[in-house]
Amino acid sequence: MTHDTQPKASHFVDGAYLEDKDGAAFPVIYPASGERIATVHSATPATIDRALDAASRAQKDWAAMTGAQRGRILRRAADLMRERNRELSVLETYDTGKPLQETLVADATSGADALEYFGGLAASLTGEHIQLGQDWVYTRREPLGVCVGIGAWNYPTQIACWKAAPALACGNAMVFKPSETTPLCALKVAEILHEAGLPAGVFNVVQGAGEVGAALVTDRRVAKVSLTGSVPTGKKVYAAAAAEMKHVTMELGGKSPLLVFDDADLDNAVGGAILGNFYSSGQVCSNGTRVFVQKGIRGAFLDRLSERLAGAVIGDPLDEATNFGPLVSDAQMKIVQDYIAKGEAEGARLAYGGKRLDRAGFYLEPTVFADVTDDMTIAREEIFGPVMAVLDFDTEEEAIARANATRYGLSAGVFTQNITRAHRVIAELQAGTCFINSYNDAPVEAPFGGVKLSGVGRENSKEAVHHYSQLKSVYVRMGDVEAPF
Ligand code: NDP
Repeated sequence: MTHDTQPKASHFVDGAYLEDKDGAAFPVIYPASGERIATVHSATPATIDRALDAASRAQKDWAAMTGAQRGRILRRAADLMRERNRELSVLETYDTGKPLQETLVADATSGADALEYFGGLAASLTGEHIQLGQDWVYTRREPLGVCVGIGAWNYPTQIACWKAAPALACGNAMVFKPSETTPLCALKVAEILHEAGLPAGVFNVVQGAGEVGAALVTDRRVAKVSLTGSVPTGKKVYAAAAAEMKHVTMELGGKSPLLVFDDADLDNAVGGAILGNFYSSGQVCSNGTRVFVQKGIRGAFLDRLSERLAGAVIGDPLDEATNFGPLVSDAQMKIVQDYIAKGEAEGARLAYGGKRLDRAGFYLEPTVFADVTDDMTIAREEIFGPVMAVLDFDTEEEAIARANATRYGLSAGVFTQNITRAHRVIAELQAGTCFINSYNDAPVEAPFGGVKLSGVGRENSKEAVHHYSQLKSVYVRMGDVEAPF
């Protein structure tokens, strides 16, 4: 391995790397080769305690700084991330297997956007003045305290930044637990934040699997939990947080619909479906994995899709020409292969791909099923891999009803050149993050999040501030108090 992927230590606590070999060791596997590239230890209860203790102590001084001071540190961290984009992108590729062609433009850069955006916003977080005759009320926008961030494995740098940036801008401290599958990148985020001047203890990283996450969520010192993960984990974490009335943000899974009408620009629609199913080898929560194509263009859509998929460059993710890499792990490979087998067994027509590649690493072909019906497993469950289900429809009303017939509600897209139809349809779709003639754009300026089982709360945009702060209202009486006795 030419690149040094072994972190200096497993955890980052109270402003410094921290090793604790009493915690169980687990391997970090490079998805493109299946080789171990690092070893990390799970946090013991003592490490978890140290991190929460450091965060509790540091939070008060951090919140006492002005917003401009906090924001300056976050913006400095954004600049450092951009300067080191290549190095961070290479590490992201080792951690996740995603092609460097993607990580160079979608991970540290997106993390830097969040740090810059919320850094800029920090100085403008204010309460309001409410005049009531002579008396008045003022509100203070206050931090929540110690926040816990728990991440999925598909975007380890981005998820750490999307949670840390608004939390820290609002004056909170954070303890972040990355996915056990991708533990490397969040440590770099911590390192950079501290290099930019973040006081020790304000952002901490502890490693480990679900039980470390659960220990963080249930700790009395924690005021808020922000999870990016699956719906089953979300239900557990939400319930544990509710027991102590903690705030939550839940960014969970989806089975999002992408509606392609007869009048759509065919190449744009195919491009949207490719972005919404095969970017990051399909391991994206907001993917439009149920592609509803109106019957008039079904044949042309499938033909054009196959032609363009044949142009995918599958290979070494560190080669910048590669645009389709491996899945994150052997476990994920088995889950996705199982779904492909179910698709075939339940009568869907395999229109493209479907096979594991005969090479080291966890490579699976981009896969398309046609003639999919709503009741099939591959049309109902989140696969989280490069498997597109193409369904056909006749009318707008039918497409809307079928698109909404799911318990998920993360994203939805529509391709049509009819402007009134585009807005009419989007208004009817039950999803938090929608696209018209596009798919999967996630600028920091726009709110991101789901409805129904896909989540609670919003990340990014000014909206995120509401999920990392609370209002105190203060009544001020100018005259005498009139008590009845
Ligand atoms: P998981 O739900 O398996 O895990 C998410 C995180 O939660 C991991 O860090 C995991 O630890 C941790 N965890 C597991 N159990 C508990 C528990 N009881 N208490 C606290 N923490 C726990 O998701 P994956 O990592 O497999 O990621 C894929 C899922 O994430 C998909 O469903 C996808 O849709 C969703 N996702 C949602 C996004 C969104 O923004 N809406 C974005 C990206 C992904 P560990 O894994 O180390 O055991």
